[in-house]
This record gives sequence, C-alpha cells and structure tokens, in this order.
Amino acid sequence: MEYQTLGNTDLQVSRLCFGSLTISPLQANLPLQEGVSVIRDALVAGVNFIDTAELYNNYEYIRLALREKLRPVYVCSKSYAYTYDAMRESVEKACRAIERDYIDIFMMHEQTSRLTLQGHAEALKYLVDAKQAGTIRAIGVSTHTVEVVRAAAMYDEIDVIHPILNKQGLGICDGTAFDMLSAIQFADSMGKGIYTMKALGGGHLSSVAPAAFEWILSQTGIDAVAVGMQSREEVRVNVAIFAGLQPEQKMLNQVLGRQRKLLIEEWCLACGKCVQVCPMGAIQIVEGQAVSNLNKCVLCGYCGAHCPEFCIKVI
Ligand code: SF4
Ligand code: SF4
Repeated sequence: MEYQTLGNTDLQVSRLCFGSLTISPLQANLPLQEGVSVIRDALVAGVNFIDTAELYNNYEYIRLALREKLRPVYVCSKSYAYTYDAMRESVEKACRAIERDYIDIFMMHEQTSRLTLQGHAEALKYLVDAKQAGTIRAIGVSTHTVEVVRAAAMYDEIDVIHPILNKQGLGICDGTAFDMLSAIQFADSMGKGIYTMKALGGGHLSSVAPAAFEWILSQTGIDAVAVGMQSREEVRVNVAIFAGLQPEQKMLNQVLGRQRKLLIEEWCLACGKCVQVCPMGAIQIVEGQAVSNLNKCVLCGYCGAHCPEFCIKVI
C-alpha cells in the first residue's frame, strides 16, 4: 500500500481510502459484523484512512473495526451543520460514537458554491476552534463542484478538499473532468490535501474499474482516492489495483459483474424532497412517483437520506 501526506497536514494516509457509505444503511445496509469484517480486511491490507459522514449513520461499524487497533487509522467525517453549536454537536457526536477524543479530519459536507461556503462561516469558526483545542486535526470540505474546489483553495482555514472526480467527469455539477483536475491542481499548489470521491462514477465505470483507477492514480495533485467497498472481494480487488498488481481474475470478474442501482419503492408519496436534494438533477416526479435518470445518477444515496418515507435505497 502506498501512503501520501495529505497536503500541508501531518496525516500520512493510504492512497486507497475506505469509502464507508456503501456498507451503511443508505446503501448495502450490511449486518453489523459483516460491515466490520469488510473494514477490518481493508485495515489488515494496509488501508489506514476511512471516509464517513454523519449522514451515513455508520459510526458503529467504524467504532467496532477500530477497537481491534490493527493499525493507526485516520478518520474523516462530515456534517451539513452551518451554525457554531450544530457543528460542535456533530463533532462531539462523532467522537462519542467512535470512542475517540478527536477526529482526524472534519468537513463541511457537500458544499455547492462559493456562497454556501460563506454561509457556513459559523460552522467553520467552530472547526477552527476545535482544531486549536485538538478535537480535530484538520478541516475540510466535500463538494461536487469545481467552483468550491477553487474557492476552498483560497481559505487559509481549510486543509483538505474532497472533490468528485472520474475520467469521464460524471457527477461534476459545473464542468468537465479537465476543469476539475485543473482546480484540484490549483488547490494542491495552495497546500491543500486532496482525496477524491466517485472514481467509478457511482457505478457507471465499474466495468472498467482497473482503467478508471489507473487514470485517477496517475493524475498529479491527488493524494488519495476514496472508494466505496461493500464486500471482502471488493477490498481485495481494490487493494491489488492500488498496489499496481493484477487482481485474481475470478474475483475481479465477480466485482466487475456487480451492478448497483437506485431502488425507489412504490409507496413513494411524491413529496419532492428527493428532487430538491439531488445534486445531479437526476430525480424527478413523474405521474405521482419519484423516478431517477440512470444516465445522471451517481448513486450517492443523498436522496434516500432525505426521504421521509424511507423508500429510496442504493442496492
Ligand atoms: S422523498 Fe421519498 S416520498 Fe418524497 S418523492 Fe422522493 S421518494 Fe417519494
Ligand atoms: S438520484 Fe439520488 S442517488 Fe442519484 S445522484 Fe441524485 S441524490 Fe444521488
């Protein structure tokens, strides 16, 4: 496993970051011990970096996986909180839930524009205070937009940026893969740590996963790549690819053949909440039922987290 320092922080993270959304209730909803085993396998294989968020509702898996103390592990979490007190509650909740007195990186989740970043000034103030107090070690922002990567690069307070990127530019709200890469390289030149999300475009590039990973790993300015994994086979395949090795063919076929999709149950009430939160404009109400656009959906699962009827899931 290769390790890299995240920008100007002192965090030496594995280039393969365990993206934990996939095991969580919003997606595979793995039984607790099964999810813990998947994380555990990744840690044994050398992964020392776990990406989570308050939204994912999966701190319990991480707490149990970390309990074995297999290696020092960096955890990044995120929250949508925009006030000082709400961000404090989010950080304290994460610390309690994973039984640590600090979180390595805490992010403002899914910032959509320069203005939303400005609107989180109070939350950012809390994160600055928490970093001074040692409750967090680095401050970050996650985003699907080129605009926010460029804006965040100019904030002295922000240490780490977590943008969406894949070779086809899938899921980038305001530009191409080239636009995002040049924003990332600018942020890198400003000393920001960068780890990307959705290298497989939410499943659209799964059938060409090795090539998609090779592409992203060869780009300059990217310290690590968060990859959602929900099975022990996926961990083995991804660890091999990130180490520059050929994964076992049978296992690779199994992983490549797995198709994921967005399931919308028939009891949808057409309230439209999912439409409002989708960053990709990939879901709409048609004849009294939410319907997703397969070409635009990156299977981020955000719509499911906001559905009051619990009728959306990535399976
Ligand atoms: S949020 Fe849920 S209930 Fe509302 S429209 Fe979307 S799927 Fe239907
Ligand atoms: S439809 Fe849902 S899963 Fe698909 S991109 Fe939109 S919010 Fe994400």
